[in-house]
Amino acid sequence: CQTMSQTQAPRTGVPIMILKEGSQRTTGVDARRSNIQAAKVIAEILATSLGPRGMDKMLIDAFGDVTITGDGATILKEMEVQHPAAKLLIEVAKAQDAEVGDGTTTVVVLAGKLLELGEELLEEGIHPTIVIDGYKKAADYALKVAEEIAKPVELTKEQLLKVVSNALSSKVVAETRDYLANIVVEAALQAVETRDGKPYLDLDWIKIEKKKGKSIYETQLVRGIVLDKEVVHPGMPKRITNAKIAILDAPLEIEKPEWTTKISVTSPDQIKAFLDQEAEILKSYVDHLASIGANVVITQKGIDEVAQHFLAKKGIMAVRRVKRSDIEKLARATGAKIITSIKDARPEDLGTAGLVEERKVGEEKMVFVEDIPNPRAVTILVRGGSDRILDEVERSLQDALHVARDLFREPKIVPGGGAFEIEVARRVREFARKLPGKEQLAALKFADALEHIPTILALTAGLDPVDAIAELRRRHDNGEITTGIDVYGGKIADMAALNVWDPLLVKKQVIKSAVEAAIMILRIDDIIAAGAPKK
Ligand code: ADP
Repeated sequence: CQTMSQTQAPRTGVPIMILKEGSQRTTGVDARRSNIQAAKVIAEILATSLGPRGMDKMLIDAFGDVTITGDGATILKEMEVQHPAAKLLIEVAKAQDAEVGDGTTTVVVLAGKLLELGEELLEEGIHPTIVIDGYKKAADYALKVAEEIAKPVELTKEQLLKVVSNALSSKVVAETRDYLANIVVEAALQAVETRDGKPYLDLDWIKIEKKKGKSIYETQLVRGIVLDKEVVHPGMPKRITNAKIAILDAPLEIEKPEWTTKISVTSPDQIKAFLDQEAEILKSYVDHLASIGANVVITQKGIDEVAQHFLAKKGIMAVRRVKRSDIEKLARATGAKIITSIKDARPEDLGTAGLVEERKVGEEKMVFVEDIPNPRAVTILVRGGSDRILDEVERSLQDALHVARDLFREPKIVPGGGAFEIEVARRVREFARKLPGKEQLAALKFADALEHIPTILALTAGLDPVDAIAELRRRHDNGEITTGIDVYGGKIADMAALNVWDPLLVKKQVIKSAVEAAIMILRIDDIIAAGAPKK
């Protein structure tokens, strides 16, 4: 790019400054090339991680902390990217992750390919708006095809398991896949609710708690809430059955006034009277909680020593300083109402659980609120040998939970392993024939870009990609629309038989996001960057 003096010389001969000094401007072909190049680099980095046999990346942050993962969203999050177009692409991928929680790698790889192939057309002198129009038409048609080839799934445990276990593709969890899939599906079925007559899964109600130690196989679903906290006082019971739980958003301590107050005391008696009065208030709170039947108290705020003492004397178990998000989950799981004013608490505000117990998990103690007949919030307690394993298991569980959520939103699936992309590409090519000349070329490039997904899967499976794509095209021409790449077996196979499916919602979003990103970048023909601020 060029650094210009940012001046224009009109006929008067007096130069006019347009851009601030130090600004850089890159225009036209150069601007586009630079953007496309940057997007391609990001796409190439991610491409090798695609699919269950993709490679992992080692990411080292500015503090030297290491993350090893093959999860596209995480790689993008950890990568420090400078180029604005690369940043744009990452934003789109993050949006994909937020929207459907999966398909991040695919979006970036597809967008990168759309840009690379789009560039070829630009080099041939085709105007960007024509490429953009061709891409848009092809994408709209692809979405239609996606609906056509999608297959409905029943929202039964059995059916959900099939699709969800496929999402647990990280190497770390590969062996424990079926075990974890079972936990994910049970958690999802427990937390799902009905909204406007349709199933609705809010993932906020599935808590993931990690604790180092043991193996992934010790990961368990707790039908209730697990708190990474201890019972606050050694004199309190550690196990309460038939628990009646007061969940407070109120402190059991006398809050220190924010302003400084001066109290003049003239004798030790007066100090005692003052302290007694504080203790009296706390005691009255505890008495009231006991009188409405509470035998467990869990608060978001603090519990001071005096209050702990009174609670212990009444045989009440208490936990303090619990996160707001956990307080809400607890209330939902136990059917409690969050109490904000202790003196107004009523018996019907209490939640119930068969068992509240402090247990040692690994080196630390945790409080389990469980044995709830039908809890509407649950916890997955993840175990594993190291923090890195725990993090990777959590990421995989999140992916799988999102897949479950996507299926509840739209219970339809499409064949994975590149079968979907091959079939859509095939039909987009047929459709392209009806488009006017140059748009047709763009639509054909769109189809080629889609086939890049099976191409990469073929590579990770150790297949020759050219042969693999040719074979896939041939079989799809014969109407075998679920034929794709069996990456574990290293061969072409029927994805329906192998049970490799992806949610339709994810694939539709992939197409939308990738095209949106590519178009956004193709539209730019001018980059104007401000100079670095003067020190
Ligand atoms: P993303 O971040 O885009 O979801 P993944 O790395 O999870 O990327 O890879 C998803 C791709 O891998 C999908 O195209 C999916 O169909 C494919 N895939 C998943 N499991 C298998 C499998 N067992 N065999 C072949 N392809 C698979």
